[in-house]
Amino acid sequence: MEQQVKLETNDFSFKRQVYILYNTNYNNDDFSMVKVLLVEDNPLNMELIIEILRSQGFTVDTAVDGEKAVDMAEKYTYDIILMDIALPGIDGVETSKKIKSKPQYKNVPFVALTAFAMAGDKERLLNAGFNEYVSKPLEVHEFVKKMEKYRK
Ligand SMILES: [Mg+2]
Repeated sequence: MEQQVKLETNDFSFKRQVYILYNTNYNNDDFSMVKVLLVEDNPLNMELIIEILRSQGFTVDTAVDGEKAVDMAEKYTYDIILMDIALPGIDGVETSKKIKSKPQYKNVPFVALTAFAMAGDKERLLNAGFNEYVSKPLEVHEFVKKMEKYRK
């Protein structure tokens, strides 16, 4: 008999645990929520973006620099990458190129997060292969709207 689990909580780590309990064949790659890799070195931005994405039903992993991001992208598979451009060490553009060179990321959308407010910057990033551009400080409503289309 199939078990019905109704959850009234928005705590996604709890939902994930319940999912694991009720799905014996669980493995990380089968999980139904859209998996995001968030690359951001600013802890406050990181916290805000995690909150928004989780409230939208995304599963979020994080990396604080480019090297860590490349490692994570190799170890796991993500459905979308959110990439800060100004990072310590290799910047977001270079990091994205490295990740994009892997065949499993050929069709994965990359979203640039950047505080650069210079004219022409959006075009520069879109030319570098980013699908989308989000400027910081984050305008929450606009960000939510932009991310909406990536939910499955
Ligand atoms: Mg930064």
